[in-house]
Amino acid sequence: MIMRTEVPRRLTILGSTGSIGTNTLDVVRQLGGRDAFEIMALTGNGNIELLAEQARKFGARLAVTADENRYAALKDALSGSGIAVAAGVSGLDEAAGLDADWVMAAIVGTAGLAPTLRAARRGANIALANKECLVSAGELFLDAVSSGGGLLIPVDSEHSAIFQCLDKSQRHALERIILTASGGPFRACTREEMAGVTLQAARSHPNWSMGLKISVGSATMFNKAFEMIEAKHLFGVRPDQIEVVVHPQSVIHSMVGYVDGSVIAQLGVPDMRTAIGYALSYPVRSALDVERLDFAKLARLDFEAPDETRFPALRLARTALERGGLQGAVLNGAEEAAFAAFVAERIGFLDMADVVEAVMDQLAGLGSAGEIADVVQADAEARRRARDVVSKMAAA
Ligand code: NAD
Ligand code: MG
Repeated sequence: MIMRTEVPRRLTILGSTGSIGTNTLDVVRQLGGRDAFEIMALTGNGNIELLAEQARKFGARLAVTADENRYAALKDALSGSGIAVAAGVSGLDEAAGLDADWVMAAIVGTAGLAPTLRAARRGANIALANKECLVSAGELFLDAVSSGGGLLIPVDSEHSAIFQCLDKSQRHALERIILTASGGPFRACTREEMAGVTLQAARSHPNWSMGLKISVGSATMFNKAFEMIEAKHLFGVRPDQIEVVVHPQSVIHSMVGYVDGSVIAQLGVPDMRTAIGYALSYPVRSALDVERLDFAKLARLDFEAPDETRFPALRLARTALERGGLQGAVLNGAEEAAFAAFVAERIGFLDMADVVEAVMDQLAGLGSAGEIADVVQADAEARRRARDVVSKMAAA
């Protein structure tokens, strides 16, 4: 692995206007701003005003909106700044291809796959928030990282925790990975209560402030399902070595268990800036102004087993892990389509898992991905079938 530690680090943020993106820019500011980081490219989608403001403030070389219809607006907003402007898929590709040593992959969904792959292939160190890259493309994404020769540092809080707890010299002694889950806003609800919940209720996470997609994914626990698959690829463990425990306070971010019975945990307040700062400073730790844990105030930490009847997403993740191959891409594509249907109020909260399960069963026979085109095709097919299942449900 190539270790690049020049200062200032050249950084591109794919998805700078989102929850992870804005937190990343706050970390950049805290770590020294332009003295510590040279911002190569920032990308967004709909929020042109924020993207332009970020690009000016941090002196980005290139600003990109994924939405081609907003190119003129972005160009306008940055006129006279000297900042280059691009749009669409080719714009994202250009951003990922610029010579940044570090790329924060913080686009939501499979839209992040192509630009993150591009950055990985050219050897950038990847700070990975966009877990969909690993859920959908798994080994192919890891191959791209190793062929490029850069580092892959997880930003997802659970995987950052595991990464921090892993004793790299004792990999043979690793027994299990224990992912913690908050249980989301419906942890204590009955299935009957969950059936009628609104988008507004589903998006209100008890501990973390996050983007819409992942907030709803925390409520269904599809986010944890993705994280199980993410963990398998990142840490090279078997599916039976991955456990999930519900821990409502979100203070223990995840744990690693060894063959001698020892369990190592990483703790902190639920603030993504710690995991982001860890990734962007790697291999050193940098000081961050985030709230400190006060154990006396905390008083207690609770744990409970997850309930797979109310949260079938966890069972579906195990199925996908057992089947292997393109099942991660199918799970992810079907879930994105089911989520869109829930947001559009076409289906109910619990229907999302039913849609995903139906599509996974239909496409259970798909084999392995030989190339990224297979992943893209499986993803598109899963979405198409999910939309069909949704239409039938909506008509019933
Ligand atoms: P968000 O919705 O707040 O932000 C998403 C970003 O992606 C925005 O910059 C948006 O402009 C951009 N984007 C949206 N659609 C796009 C498209 N079609 N093409 C290109 N860009 C597009 O999401 P987020 O919560 O910041 O999550 C980003 C990623 O990080 C997700 O993969 C999520 O699972 C992961 N993650 C987030 C958190 C968190 O605390 N928010 C924690 C762990 C992992
Ligand atoms: Mg997480």
